[in-house]
Parts: sequence; C-alpha cells; structure tokens
Amino acid sequence: MLSVEDALERILAEISPLSSVQVPLSDALGLILAQDIVAQEDQPPFANSAMDGFALVSKDSKLRDGQPPRLRVTGGIAAGYVAEHAVEEGTAMRIMTGAPVPLGADSVIQIELTRYDGPQSSWVEILEEVSPGNNIRPAGEDMRKGQTILHRGSEIGAWEIGILATVGIAHVPVIQRPRIAILGTGDEVVDINEPLSPGKIRNSNSYLLEAAVRKAGAEPHRLGIARDTVESLREKFTEAATYDLILTSGGVSVGDFDLVKNIMAEQGQINFWRINMRPGKPVAFGHIAGVPLLGLPGNPVSSAVTFELFGRPIIRKMLGHIHLKRQQVEVIVEDGVQERVMRRHYVRASVEWHDDHFVAHTTGNQGSNIMTSLLNSNAFVIVPEGGNQIRPGEKAQAMMLDWPER
Ligand code: AMP
Ligand code: MG
Repeated sequence: MLSVEDALERILAEISPLSSVQVPLSDALGLILAQDIVAQEDQPPFANSAMDGFALVSKDSKLRDGQPPRLRVTGGIAAGYVAEHAVEEGTAMRIMTGAPVPLGADSVIQIELTRYDGPQSSWVEILEEVSPGNNIRPAGEDMRKGQTILHRGSEIGAWEIGILATVGIAHVPVIQRPRIAILGTGDEVVDINEPLSPGKIRNSNSYLLEAAVRKAGAEPHRLGIARDTVESLREKFTEAATYDLILTSGGVSVGDFDLVKNIMAEQGQINFWRINMRPGKPVAFGHIAGVPLLGLPGNPVSSAVTFELFGRPIIRKMLGHIHLKRQQVEVIVEDGVQERVMRRHYVRASVEWHDDHFVAHTTGNQGSNIMTSLLNSNAFVIVPEGGNQIRPGEKAQAMMLDWPER
C-alpha cells in the first residue's frame, strides 16, 4: 500500500501549471498573476485635496494682529475638474475631496476650521494655522510610474483587483483556470432529478465534486454518468479527454465488477493504487490522451476526502499556486477516536479555538458511505496508521480544511 504522501508526490510530479492567458479583470479573482504588473503612471496621477475645504497659500493662515485672517474666495473646484486660475496671496479657492490642487496653493484647510457663509459669500475666515502640504495628497504618493506593484505568482484577491483597476489593467495576464471534466460511473447511479427505481441511488458525487472543484478555483464541467458498458465508458472518456483534468468517481476498486478500470487502462496509462488511508483506499491516477486523470473511489465520503487530499492540490498546482498543502495543527480531541483502524484514518471533525488551544469534536459514524459525517466538519483529525486509538482529551494532528494552504 502506498502512503498518502508518496501518492501525492507521484501525482504532483506529473502536473504542471497551465499556460498563461489574458482574462477580463472581473474574471481574475482567485487566479495567479503570470507577469509583474508595473504602474504606467503615478498614483494619484495629480496632487489633490484630501478634504472638503479651501486651497490657500499656507503662510496666509497665520494670525494677523491676533485676528484670524480673511481671504477672498475666487472660485471653487469640484472633483473631476481643473481650476481655471491660480490661488494668489490673500485669496483662497473652495475645493472638494479629490479635486486637483490649483496652482499657487500649497495647502488645504478643512471647512470645519474656517468660517464661511456659503457660496454667496466671497470671504472666508481661516481659524487655524496650516503648514505647507496640509491635506494635500501628492502625485505618486501611493504608486510611482515604473514601480512594480504586483509580482508574478501572486494570487489575485478582491484587493488586488482594486489595485489592478487603479492602474488601468482591464485584461490581466494570469495562469488560466483549469477546466475539469467530472464523470460519474455506475449502472446504479441516476441523476438527481430522476425517480429512484429499485436498486438505484442518486449521483451525489458529481455534484459534490463540482462544488469542491469550483471552490478550489477551477471550472467544473459535469459530463453525466457513464454506464457500466464499454460503449458508454469509451464515449465519455473521449469527451473527457478535451479538458485539463478528468475526475471520475467509482469503478476503481479491486475486484470491481464494473468496467471503468478496464476502459481507463485501455484508453491511457493509469496506475491503480491502494492507498494507506481511510476512507478512500482505491485511487487511480494517470493520463488519457495526455490529459491527467484522477479516479476517486465511489463511496461518497471516500470521494470527498480523496478529492481534498489529491484533487485539490492538483488543481492548485495547475493554477500556479506554490502552496499546495493544507495546514495542520495540534488539537485536543474532546470525544476521542475509539475505533481501531490499521490504515491512516482521516476522521471528520469540527475544530474550534478554545481560550488557548484547538478542540476537536468528531462527527459521529465515520463510515465511508455516511454522508452526514461530513456535516459541520472543517477538519480531518489524523489518526496515524497502525490501529491507534485516541482517548477522549488526547492530542492529535488535524488538517484544517478552512485555512489557506501553506
Ligand atoms: P464503486 O467503487 O463503483 O464500486 O462504488 C462504491 C460505492 O459508491 C457503491 O456503493 C456505489 O453505489 C457508490 N457510488 C458510486 N458512484 C456514486 C455516485 N456518483 N454518487 C453516489 N454514490 C456512488
Ligand atoms: Mg461502480
């Protein structure tokens, strides 16, 4: 049996980041930058006011004979417009936040520190002394023309999107989003809107995987269910081989009655592994027509857990991420894990921070067909291989499913 680490290492050795493309800025969320982004202009592009107030010559704000100075108001500048004349000594201009600072002015005083009777008045009294540069945001204060703002390899989040918009990148060079074919298999499996006739079950795996693929940042495409016939399987695999990755569920276990394994082997180079883990021992990995294929077990929990351990890292590597593995922390397993399992056991659990440590509660029956064991779990408590138990209150490592990879 192969260890989880060895299997993952062998899989990732066969996966490369996809090529780069330009995507519209609004589609770039979660993707990885394929090039450095260099500012083509200063940001802000012009010196502008940080406040609603008056633009003035700072030395005009000094008290005159112990009295607040009065300045003549020669006009106003709204955001988006440029003043038609300069501010001269003894004068001021009304200015709004974001408006370009007029020539001649070296400071802005906020309106709250003046006495001003409104637009009909042509005088303003300055109630506090200001120094040069007061409330002025200089050109290039945030970014300088020619400066590298974002580096190749960084992930684009909402804040990066805002920065890219600021510097006018309407189309972003990124590693392209992988397109993933998701294939259910099995004569017993019917789609979710079909009636359940005797012996049939619903195709939960394809929908769970579709969501998990999307969450991992890739673009899922459900190709339906391949019947356990040579024709159906050949047809589905031919279609699937036009994607960047094929994800299947079911039909890969030892002594399986169905034909999935045979057709995979016929169509490509596939390894069928028994992995030293529970849930999810049988996993297949290889290529069909040059496209990587990950064959997950059919049992719903096994397929969910093996996707987390192998599918998600594949997608992240294709996306160009450097960090592929979930973080682990030490937890106190409040209820313990009594069941002895020879394989490494990934026990679904909810983990929370309590005062100064993490506490895990397992989610009940851990059978690989028990979908409800996934509910309310944000972690896998890892029970090492060899038939170990964890007594209530003992420590264990947990893989955190809602923390970023490291
Ligand atoms: P298999 O590996 O094909 O023998 O499948 C193992 C178990 O998983 C069987 O109980 C199948 O009925 C079940 N199973 C297979 N595919 C799916 C699916 N797409 N959705 C839900 N259960 C499935
Ligand atoms: Mg099957």
